[in-house]
Amino acid sequence: MPEKLYEKRQAVHNKRIDGPFRRFKWAMMIVTLAIYYVTPWIRWDRGPYAPDQAVLVDLANRRFYMFGIEIWPHEFYFVAGLLIMAGIGLFLVTSAVGRAWCGYACPQTVWTDLFQHVDRFVDGDRNARMRLDAAPWTWGKVLRRAFKWTIYAVIGFATGGAWILYFADAPTLFRDFFAGDAAPVAYITVAVLTLTTVVLGGFMREQVCIYMCPWPRIQSAMLDEKSLIVTYKDWRGEPRGSVKKARKHPGEFGDCIDCNLCVAVCPTGIDIREGPQIGCITCALCIDACDRVMAEVGRPRGLIDYATLEDCEREARGETPRSPWRTLLRPRTIAYSLIWGSIGLALLFALGVRSHTGLTVSPDRNPPFMLMSDGSIRNSFTLKLRNMESRPRDMAIALEGLPGGVMWSDTIGRDDAAPAQVMTVPADQTRTMRAYVMAPAGTGERDFAFRITSQDEQRETDSVETRFSAPEAGQPRDSQ
Ligand code: SF4
Ligand code: SF4
Repeated sequence: MPEKLYEKRQAVHNKRIDGPFRRFKWAMMIVTLAIYYVTPWIRWDRGPYAPDQAVLVDLANRRFYMFGIEIWPHEFYFVAGLLIMAGIGLFLVTSAVGRAWCGYACPQTVWTDLFQHVDRFVDGDRNARMRLDAAPWTWGKVLRRAFKWTIYAVIGFATGGAWILYFADAPTLFRDFFAGDAAPVAYITVAVLTLTTVVLGGFMREQVCIYMCPWPRIQSAMLDEKSLIVTYKDWRGEPRGSVKKARKHPGEFGDCIDCNLCVAVCPTGIDIREGPQIGCITCALCIDACDRVMAEVGRPRGLIDYATLEDCEREARGETPRSPWRTLLRPRTIAYSLIWGSIGLALLFALGVRSHTGLTVSPDRNPPFMLMSDGSIRNSFTLKLRNMESRPRDMAIALEGLPGGVMWSDTIGRDDAAPAQVMTVPADQTRTMRAYVMAPAGTGERDFAFRITSQDEQRETDSVETRFSAPEAGQPRDSQ
């Protein structure tokens, strides 16, 4: 017989458990799900010219709104900075408290936990689910499965449905979606996310963490003997033996009574007594389970506990473990905190001092200049005036470094040509305009600048240097 390449998955029927870590996990699940589902419905008044959704990725207008912050496409470095902070934050959390992200806040963990509660609600706790799984298909089992999978589909649909609300005005899209008036991409996105949520959270579960997600591998490389991880203290627990055996042979057995409760409650189905492993998401439910067992048999808690490998070795030698503060505050975590904080401060500073006015200039190159009948020279430019305030603003555009130069535009006639013009730029928009710049006869090629200044109390300004093209002696000329 050829050897099998893959082992068949053993379904995980984790048992209900209560304890401080389970309650913390409940709290995290409620908070993270509430943030995800409720955020698109939060309103934020930005005045009449901007959307009033607190968090919105406005792809059509290329804007990202987050409460009082509005990010424009040219400010993508803010998003890049936030992503870098998220990455360093994960490094910091991992080196301080191990895979806490995986155990409590990762979407795969949160949704899997939710689906496991659905299993428990519909099919009962561990033993009932195991019996039902092994039972033949009867009408009762079919109806139960259909009911459970319908709940899975509703959760998946709500997940996909909430996702699209981040990309358009939530109340409007919600109405349009159910009226059949939303864009096809909305229905496709919801269908894909419903399917992936049900498949990944409802059926694949711990396999995503163990086989698909790269993060456990990266984290394994980041953990060291000073990182907090969920650990079974084998020096204290081994050799395992029941309470009865321990009573019969005092001193021959460790504290582990081999009840298997730590394995039964594990959402990834692993036995932490076999040592740290990639399948352990450090949710600490086995700590709750073992602490309960220890309390029942009258032994000290913490046979399975959050501990560093270094402290375990200390405890095994009979020494006192280091204080948790020394575990959390060490050079590596302090360095990550400093980097994380510095990037955060730099982003806040950049946000505080950023200008809400901007200008870009593109000179026309074909032809680069026009020679007018009176000998003066005209160049044409395309200007983009940016107004990042949520109200219309007047902007003065002035020529600098071009003596005798005047300008007009596609909306201001040549008769009104002047060295500076005032344009109104609509709220929260970029206004594109053609600018015609004319310099007196005899002006040579030279650098000059356009400067815009907002005509309000802020007097924000921006200037762009460009080049004025003019004919060289003997060069053929276009004339008008
Ligand atoms: S719960 Fe504790 S006592 Fe029971 S098997 Fe696990 S480690 Fe041993
Ligand atoms: S071994 Fe313990 S901490 Fe790790 S995943 Fe299982 S229950 Fe959670």
